[in-house]
This record gives sequence, C-alpha cells and structure tokens, in this order.
Amino acid sequence: MELSAAVMKQWALRINEKMQEHKDKLSELDQAIGDGDHGHNMARGFQEAANKVNDSSYDDIGTMYKDIASTLISKVGGASGPLYGTAFLKAANAWKGRDVLDSEAFTEGIEAAVGGIETRGKASFGDKTMLDVWIPVRDEMKERGVDTEQANKTAAKEAEATIDRVAKKGRASYLGERSKGHMDPGAFSSQLVFEALAEVYKE
Ligand code: ADP
Ligand code: MG
Ligand code: MG
Repeated sequence: MELSAAVMKQWALRINEKMQEHKDKLSELDQAIGDGDHGHNMARGFQEAANKVNDSSYDDIGTMYKDIASTLISKVGGASGPLYGTAFLKAANAWKGRDVLDSEAFTEGIEAAVGGIETRGKASFGDKTMLDVWIPVRDEMKERGVDTEQANKTAAKEAEATIDRVAKKGRASYLGERSKGHMDPGAFSSQLVFEALAEVYKE
C-alpha cells in the first residue's frame, strides 16, 4: 500500500466534492441535534482548502496538508473547523518531508490526527462525535495496516452506530436523551472523508 502525493492531493479534492454533494444532508443531521450549519461549515471549509491546494505546488505531503489544516482552522467556524483543522495539522506534521506514504506512515498521520481531535475536544469513543468514526478506523489501521476499502466500510458502520447513542460532547449534548435516534453530523462527514480515500486509492 502506497499513497503518492498525487493521490493525497486527489483525496483532499475528493473530500471537498463529497462535502458539496452531501451539504444538505449534513446540515439536516445537524438541524436535528445541533444548529443546522454542519453542511455549510464543511462545504465552505473544504472548498477553500481545495482552492488553496489547486493554486499551489508542494514539495511534500506534509506542507500540502498543513495548508489544508490552516485553511480549515481559519475558514470554518464552530466546533468542527478547529477539530478537523487540528486533525489535518497533526497528520501534516507526521507527513512532513514525505512525497509518498506507505501503510505505516499513513497510519502515523491518522493516529496523530485522532490524538489532536481528542486533545482539542476532550471526547471519547461513544460520545456520539466524529471520534466515534475516527477511533475505530485508526485502531483497525494500527492492527492490520491500511486497507482503504476496509476503512470506508468501518467508517460507514460506525457512523450508523452513532444513531442510537446519546451525545456527551458538543451542542448535541444539550439535548441529552433526545439526541438519540439521529446520526451525528460530524460522524457522517468523517465517513465521507474515508469514502473519498477509498475512491481515490482505487482510481
Ligand atoms: P457547531 O456544533 O459548533 O455548530 P458543527 O455543526 O460544524 O459545529 O460540527 C458539529 C460536529 O462536531 C458534531 O456533530 C461532532 O461530530 C463534532 N464535535 C462537536 N464537539 C466535539 C468534541 N468535543 N469532540 C469531537 N467532536 C466534536
Ligand atoms: Mg452545527
Ligand atoms: Mg454552529
């Protein structure tokens, strides 16, 4: 398994396409248990990140993902901007100086990303947040190496599993038990991140 800088660029661009495509669904999910802006936040942030990546040339994957991270941090409001921004910033640090990522290097980035989300948001697995998707994907990668199709399947399954949970962090936690019965919007956007990875790896 290897991910070239070209594929890593396509990943960022494909994430953006997915966020545009599912913008309304992301906001509808957030309408049910939050303030209804998750689609808007993701679509705006990743569009800006895609523009930045398209307008630049990079010596390594780390520099590219650092740009993506700082764009997300500066352009996306709310909880998700800093959380996704931190995730990509930590991954970027792990990918510094690399123009290709093997399974181990990619996994190091994902581990760092998860660590960043945890430190920033203080959530744990099962709190009905984006981490409910990221943590199992990371665990599987650490255990078995990177299999993008498997990561996609796990992300979809784990996003679905947030429906029955009670939110413990973020706006949805204000609803308590009433947050049950709806998928977490950040879990769904995270599912899209890994769906995009599986697609660009296959191509
Ligand atoms: P906001 O809630 O500020 O409007 P968004 O709607 O863009 O921001 O993002 C909401 C998503 O952010 C949630 O669905 C959840 O997945 C994620 N989230 C919120 N708080 C946390 C946290 N403390 N840790 C991890 N993820 C969180
Ligand atoms: Mg919101
Ligand atoms: Mg908001």
